[in-house]
Amino acid sequence: MKRVYSYKCGECGRLWGDDEEGCRECCTSYMCECGREHNVTAGSMCVSCQEKDMVIHNRRLLDNAELCEYDGGPIFVKGCFIETLGKYQEFARGFPSGEELAHLAKALKVEVADDAYRDVVDMIEKFLPHGVSIVDGCKFREAINEFVEANDTVRWIEDKNRKVRLTDE
Ligand SMILES: [Zn+2]
Ligand SMILES: [Zn+2]
Repeated sequence: MKRVYSYKCGECGRLWGDDEEGCRECCTSYMCECGREHNVTAGSMCVSCQEKDMVIHNRRLLDNAELCEYDGGPIFVKGCFIETLGKYQEFARGFPSGEELAHLAKALKVEVADDAYRDVVDMIEKFLPHGVSIVDGCKFREAINEFVEANDTVRWIEDKNRKVRLTDE
């Protein structure tokens, strides 16, 4: 008979498998620099300090980005994707955000990953009659690529290096 061992938290009884360190830190509290207790890891920050740190980090990225002429493309305001500057300004008239600058967006082309292609081939071959397989893999791959190309293949991500002014003047 095979015995299975697991670390178990003495406080809450949670089983941690072979994760000795995780188990040791379970139900342990640490002190953040701000004086709040938290249970992330020793020397780290509490959630509220992490959020504040993120705001400072994002502010610095925006400060360091190059100020560009608006090119008609999408923008990111506080991490939110907006199709055009005009749409933002329309929205901001009703709900002013107080932001003056925003990152531009850059397009990320979605490539058909090889393993995704393999998965599709495997899935289809499961349903083919016995002894029949997809021989012309290249044609099939082309078809998948064409499909992806014809459909939404671009994902917009925040361009941390470029920013635009949100206000007209
Ligand atoms: Zn615990
Ligand atoms: Zn804190």
